[in-house]
Amino acid sequence: MTAKVEKTDAEWRATLSPEQYQVLRKHGTEHRGASPLNKEKREGTFKCAGCGESLFSSDTKYDSGSGWPSFYAPLKDEAVETTTDQTYGMRRTEVHCAKCGGHLGHVFEDGPKPTGLRYCMNGVSLAFDPEKDKV
Ligand SMILES: [Zn+2]
Repeated sequence: MTAKVEKTDAEWRATLSPEQYQVLRKHGTEHRGASPLNKEKREGTFKCAGCGESLFSSDTKYDSGSGWPSFYAPLKDEAVETTTDQTYGMRRTEVHCAKCGGHLGHVFEDGPKPTGLRYCMNGVSLAFDPEKDKV
């Protein structure tokens, strides 16, 4: 079990950039192709921009062509949590950081093997660390 990170809205506003705040705390979506992490091909770990929790490994990153950083699996199952999002008349599965609750993106069932999942993440909600986490 990882300890939860809880902050007030004002505290999040003070620690995040306006773009990070909009995505992580207000369920925003960055513009397609906006994130430099789309082109990040180095080995490393993608961490939550809100709390620093390790969320995804470069090992599961792939080029989905969607314009958002995409992964076929989280680093650890317990690193992320999902909820059903029914906004905009669509039924989607929202992905958020298990530690701080920050909104990361959505997961779709059209990903590659072995999971068949596509974790479609907002790059602004992730921080790339070129050190690989040991799982
Ligand atoms: Zn987090």
